[in-house]
Amino acid sequence: MFRSVAALLLSLAWPSPMTTNAQTAGPTAGARPQADAAITYTLRFPDAARHYVDVEATYPTAGQKRIELMMAVWTPGSYLVREYARHVEGLDVVKPSGGVAPVKTRKNRWAIETGGAPRVTVRYRVYGREMSVRTNWIESRYALLQGAATYLTLVGGLQRPHHVTLDLPQGWTRAMSGLPEVPGRAQAFVARDFDTLVDSPIVAGDLKVYEFTRSGKPHFLVNVNENGSWDGPRASADVDRIVAEHEKMWGSLPYDKYVFINMITEAGGGLEHANSTVLMTSRWAMGTRDAYVGWLNLVSHEFFHVWNVKRLRPAALGPFDYEAENYTPSLWVSEGITSYYGDLLVRRAGLSSDPEYFLGLSNDIRTLETTPGRLVVPVTQSSYDAWIKQYRPDENSGNTSVSYYTKGQVIAALIDARIRFASNGQRSLDDVMRLAYQRYSGTSGFTEAQFRGVITEIGGADLADVVARALDTTQPLEYQPLLDAYGLQFLPPDSRASRGWLGIKTKVDVGRLVVSEVQRDAPGAAAGLNVDDEILAIGDYRVRPDQWERRLDQYPPTTQATLLIARRDQVMRLDVTFGQEMGHAWRLVPRVAPTAAQIATRAAWLGR
Ligand SMILES: [Zn+2]
Repeated sequence: MFRSVAALLLSLAWPSPMTTNAQTAGPTAGARPQADAAITYTLRFPDAARHYVDVEATYPTAGQKRIELMMAVWTPGSYLVREYARHVEGLDVVKPSGGVAPVKTRKNRWAIETGGAPRVTVRYRVYGREMSVRTNWIESRYALLQGAATYLTLVGGLQRPHHVTLDLPQGWTRAMSGLPEVPGRAQAFVARDFDTLVDSPIVAGDLKVYEFTRSGKPHFLVNVNENGSWDGPRASADVDRIVAEHEKMWGSLPYDKYVFINMITEAGGGLEHANSTVLMTSRWAMGTRDAYVGWLNLVSHEFFHVWNVKRLRPAALGPFDYEAENYTPSLWVSEGITSYYGDLLVRRAGLSSDPEYFLGLSNDIRTLETTPGRLVVPVTQSSYDAWIKQYRPDENSGNTSVSYYTKGQVIAALIDARIRFASNGQRSLDDVMRLAYQRYSGTSGFTEAQFRGVITEIGGADLADVVARALDTTQPLEYQPLLDAYGLQFLPPDSRASRGWLGIKTKVDVGRLVVSEVQRDAPGAAAGLNVDDEILAIGDYRVRPDQWERRLDQYPPTTQATLLIARRDQVMRLDVTFGQEMGHAWRLVPRVAPTAAQIATRAAWLGR
C-alpha cells in the first residue's frame, strides 16, 4: 500500500485526526470508544425513475473546524477501481445553515468547514443505472444500493456506527439487507462500522421474500423482479439444502442471519458479503435444467465465501484501503478454491448429478488447457494483477493471462485428489480448509506461505513442490493423479471435425464481419489476420456475416485459401492455411473397472 503525494500534502496542511488515512482506520486499527456518535443516512427516492437516490447524511464533527468526507473507489470482492464518486452530484451543506460549500480535495474526497458545529448535515444525489453486483441500480420499481457506491463517510471515522434509514416510495413494500434492523422502526438499519456498511447491500421495492431457518438462524431468499416467473418455494428449498451442505462441511453457520438477494434482471454474476450475497440471473433460469444447476452453483459459490474470503482471507485483504488497490497473490484460494467447492457442494447436496459435475470440471480443464495465456503467467501473478487484467479484459487477454478462477479451481481439484490418494481417503482439501479457517480466520488473515503450510500439514511434505509448480510456474498441470485417485479417465477427443479452423473470433459490426480476437500461434495469426480486420471474401467469393460459419465447412484442415480483408478501409489479401481445432480432450468419465479404493474415494469426494 502506498500514499499519494496529494495525501502527504494534505496531512502536512491539516495535522488533525481528520487526515487519518482511511487505510489505517479499518476494523483492527485500534479501539474507539463505543460511545462514538453515529453517522446517519436517510435515503429517499423522489427521482427513482431517473435513476437517482437522494441521500441526507449527518456527521459528528468532534469539535473539528473542518471535516473531510470520503467515498470508496472500489468494492471488496471485485478488484477494480470503479471511481464511484463520479456518480455523486449536488453535494451541499444543509446544517449548519449558511454552511460553506464543500471543497474537493481529491477525486473522491470533500472538505467541509464546520464553523464549530457539533454536527454537519449534507445532501447529495447518486446516479445508479449499472446492473451489476457491485454497482447501483435505481428505477421506478426498485433499487439495489451498494455501500461503496452510495455512502460518503467521514475520513478518520470508519469505526463509527453508520445508521441507514430508507424512506420508501409508494408501492415499495420492503427493504432487505444483511444489516441488523432497528427494532420498532421501519426500514432502518445499523452498521457497526463503515466496513459493515460497505459489506451490506440494500435492496428495496416490491420484494418476494422466502424465509427458511437452518440451525435456528433465519435465511431469506429475496427475489427482485420475480413477476411470477420463478418458483420461489422450490428455489428456497434448494438453497436451504445448499446451506445445510456447507454447514456440514464447515461445522457451523458463523452469522446471525443471511440474505440471498436474487436480482432477476437478465444480468449475471454474484458478489459475496459476510452475511448476504447479491446474485443476478435470468427470469428463464428455472426453465431449463442446465440454467438452473448453473444458478445453484452460483448460489453455492457465493455462499462458500461466507467462510473463504469473508472470514478466512488473504492478509492483504483487510483492513481494506478503500482508496487504492489492495494486492494479493492468493485469489486462487479465495476464488479458485471457492469455485471448486461451489459446484462440488451442489453435487454433494444431491442437486446435480455425477455427469453434470464431471462435465463442469471437464469444461474448466478444457478452458484452461486451451488458453494460450496459461503459458505466459503463473496463477499467483494473475491474482496480483487482477486490478489491471481480470477486470479489464481486452482482445489480447486470452493470449497473455489466465483466470485465477479457472486455474485455481483446477488446481484445487488436483490438490484434493492428491491428498485423498496419499491418505487412502482419510484426508482431503476439506480438512485443509477447516484447519486454515480455525487458524487464520478473523482479523489476521493468512499469507500465501501460511496457506501452503496448511496444505502440506494435511497432505504431506511431498505436496510442497507440486503445489509450488502449479502456482508459481507456467509448467503443465499433471492430471494423472486425479484420474487415479477416483478411477476416472479422459475420453479420447472427437477428431472427426472436418471444418477448417483459424483460431479467431469474429463479431458482426454494423453488418460487417469483423475479427474480434486472434489466438496466438493459430492459423489466423500465422496468416497475418489482425483484430478489427473486416473479412470480405474467401477466394473469389464474398462472405457475409451470416454465411461465415457454414463457409468454413468448405475448407477442411490443411486446405489453403486467400482471404480478402479490409484493414482501416485498405483492401488486402492474406494467404491462409486452415488448421484443425483441438477436440475436447478432457471429458472426465468413470473408468470401466475402477478399484474398490477408487470407488470409495470417489464416493467420499462426491458425497455419498
Ligand atoms: Zn467468488
